[in-house]
Amino acid sequence: MIPVMRPWFGPQEETAVAEVIASGWVAQGPRVAEFERAFAASVGAAEGVATSSCTTALHLALVLAGIGPGDEVIVPSLSFIATANAVRYTGAAPVFADVDPATGNLTAKTVDEVRTERTRAVIVVHQAGVPADVDELRAVHGGLTLIEDAACAAGSVYRDRPVGAGAAMAAWSFHPRKLLTTGEGGMLTTDDPELAARARRLREHGMSVSAAERHASGSVVLEEYGEVGFNYRMTDLQAAVGLVQLGRLAEMVARRRALAERYQDLLARVPGLVTVRDPEHGRTNYQSFWVCLPDDFPMSRDELLRFLAERGISARRGIMAAHLEPAYADVPAAPLPATERLTRRSLILPLFHTMTEAEQDAVVEAVYAAGGV
Ligand SMILES: *Cc1c(COP(=O)(O)O)cnc(C)c1O
Repeated sequence: MIPVMRPWFGPQEETAVAEVIASGWVAQGPRVAEFERAFAASVGAAEGVATSSCTTALHLALVLAGIGPGDEVIVPSLSFIATANAVRYTGAAPVFADVDPATGNLTAKTVDEVRTERTRAVIVVHQAGVPADVDELRAVHGGLTLIEDAACAAGSVYRDRPVGAGAAMAAWSFHPRKLLTTGEGGMLTTDDPELAARARRLREHGMSVSAAERHASGSVVLEEYGEVGFNYRMTDLQAAVGLVQLGRLAEMVARRRALAERYQDLLARVPGLVTVRDPEHGRTNYQSFWVCLPDDFPMSRDELLRFLAERGISARRGIMAAHLEPAYADVPAAPLPATERLTRRSLILPLFHTMTEAEQDAVVEAVYAAGGV
C-alpha cells in the first residue's frame, strides 16, 4: 500500500525522547521553551507559544483578539474543519468566504464580498502549504485582526521570507499529516511580547507563574489565576521530537518539492488536469499535492479514489468545505463556486519524504489508466 503521507523520523527522535524521560520532567518545561525559540526564529517571528495543537492555537489567537459572541470572523469554508470550529468555540459566528481557484486561498476580494459591520477578524489559511497573499489582506483590512492559519505551511515561503514572518498571529500544526510532526502539537507565533505572555498564561489554566518556573525556582512561588484559562500545553516529550524534526525541515521541503515537480511533469500528459503549484508571490512546501480533475475526465472523483485504492494507492478527497458539512448547515453561506468546484473535483495524491520514484510512477500510471491516457 502506498500511503498518502508518512512522517519521516530517524533514531535522533528516539534518543531525544529517551533523554526527556531520563530527566524526570516530561510535561511542559525546558524542551518546550527551547522548541518555541527555535521554531519562532525559523519562521521569522519574535515569540512562539507551543500548544497542544493548531486548533487550540487558533482558539487562543481568537481569545487574544477579544473575539466573542456577536462578532463575525471570516474564514474560508475550504479548509480543515478546525479553522471554522475555533471560531465557534468563542461564541462568534464564522462567515464563509470563497477562495482563489488556483491557490485555494482567501483573497482581499473574496473577503470584501462577505465583510459586514460585525466583522472583527479574518482567519486566512495558507492552504496545503500554498502561501496566501497576506500583504494584500493586511493592506485592505487594516482595523481587523488578521490571524494566519499556517497549520500546513512550515517551510513555505512568502515574498522571500518564511510564511508567518510579519504575521500579527500565526497558528501552526505538528500533526503527522503536516511536514514537521510531534505526534500532536501546535504553536502560536507573534512579534508582540504582551500577546505572547498572555497566551502563555492562557494555555496553562491562566496561571501567573508556570509550573516549570515554579519547579526551577529554589524558593516557594505562589501562582495566581487572573482569568479563566485552558490546558493547551505541549509536553517536553513532544518538543524534544519537534527540535529534531525542525532540523530536518529544509531537507523535507526540498524532497517534497522535487517529487512535486516530477508529478507535475508526468501528469501534464493528462489533458486538462490541474495540479497545485507555486503562486507568483511565493513557494509552497507541498504539504498536500492536490490535483483537480477536468469536467471531461472519464471517472468521477470518488470513482477515481476507489480505482486508486483497488491498486494499493491511498489518496484522499481534496480539501473539505465546512459549509457542506452538517455541523455548519445552519450558517447561511453566500455562493462559493470556487470552493465547491475544488472540494468536489480535487483529490490529494500520495507524497511523503521517503516516497520512491517507483512508487510515484505507480500512482501516475494509475491516473493515466483512469484517464484513458
Ligand atoms: C491540520 C489543520 C488544522 C488543525 O491542526 P491540528 O494540529 O490537528 O489541530 C487546522 N487548520 C488547517 C488548515 C489544517 O490543515
